[in-house]
Amino acid sequence: MTYPASTGGILPSAHAAPVPADERSAIIDLEAIRHNVRRLAAAASPAQLMAVVKADAYGHGAVPVARAALEAGASWLGVAHISEALALRAAGIDAPLLAWLHTPESNFGAAVAAGVDIGCSGWELDRIVAAAREQERPARIHLKVDTGLGRNGATLDAWDHLVGEAVEYQDEGLLRVVGVFSHLAVADEPERPETDEQLAAFREVLAIAGDAGVDPEVRHLANTPATLSRPDTHFDLVRVGLGIYGLSPFDGQTSAELGLRPAMTVRTVVAHCKDVPEGQGVSYGLNYRTPGPSTLGLIPLGYADGVPRVATGGPVRVDGVTYPVVGRIAMDQMVIDLGNRGVSGGGRSLLGAEAELFGDGADGGPTADDWARAAGTNNYEIVTRISSRVPRRVINETPAP
Ligand SMILES: *Cc1c(COP(=O)(O)O)cnc(C)c1O
Repeated sequence: MTYPASTGGILPSAHAAPVPADERSAIIDLEAIRHNVRRLAAAASPAQLMAVVKADAYGHGAVPVARAALEAGASWLGVAHISEALALRAAGIDAPLLAWLHTPESNFGAAVAAGVDIGCSGWELDRIVAAAREQERPARIHLKVDTGLGRNGATLDAWDHLVGEAVEYQDEGLLRVVGVFSHLAVADEPERPETDEQLAAFREVLAIAGDAGVDPEVRHLANTPATLSRPDTHFDLVRVGLGIYGLSPFDGQTSAELGLRPAMTVRTVVAHCKDVPEGQGVSYGLNYRTPGPSTLGLIPLGYADGVPRVATGGPVRVDGVTYPVVGRIAMDQMVIDLGNRGVSGGGRSLLGAEAELFGDGADGGPTADDWARAAGTNNYEIVTRISSRVPRRVINETPAP
């Protein structure tokens, strides 16, 4: 594997020595991102695709992922915060871009000035209008309705009023209602009935908005699981996050079964390899003891790197074999039991060997799904929480010809 020599946590030496291989890295394959965007855009067609790149593109790096997604056919970008949207604009990305989670501290003026579309659940409207007046530029807004998730979005009771006010401001030229949207609660569990209820509510609010004179360019409801399993939720635009990173939103289906390729590989190298006697306790709490004479491998990643502390048993592949983490995961490190290798008696030491926590799973290797199971969480959290202490290494930066 080769890495670009330009970026990341290792400073180039003053003596122009060759850049050393990374001690730890999250390798981000932009060709996998492009593949997944093409796959999801085909599933969504004729609806357009918004690539959701909030939270630094679920830990993959917002700017390179946004560029790759646009290259592969995404026509919109989505983020939670206005600050995330402004960072994309500052990087020169001028695609349609929506931010939907605000506080009274959010910089609506900067959003209007940068041509960032603003999700509006109700209270934001007056602030958005004030920002439009101040910037002497109409705001672009997407009205958000809560069809059942119980988070952001106007309640169905408040919808009439919000739509009426927005139309008045639109008539005054202060804003344009570009979109109407809502978010699904249980699309990852296709057998549950609530998605149908949310869809019916969404159709109802669209009719109300239409009657009030709103004619949005884009009506959008679907996330990754709905994009893959519910064509009736696609409308004009789907908002896809998890899938573009190549991960499955469904418990019973793998990435490969969905035609997706996980884009992030987290790996490091073995930091210590030593023989220990039977009964050796391992890591804080001594919760694991070697069942016999054994060889321990030290893996220099821990919860400060974003490996969940609760994920004892999570897989690490070294030299083609996948081992479970034994004992507690610490801030900087964790341990695998390599079996009795007798390194002191001439057995091959694995010091410095590549250790992979998860990758694309193509060759039977460990996956983010495995770590999610070990941690009692979902794959979203596994990739998103990989911390800034793990340098991102982008590969396949330019599209294949
Ligand atoms: C995060 C988010 C998405 C993307 O969801 P995925 O399940 O990752 O596809 C879509 N819409 C909204 C409002 C979101 O917050």
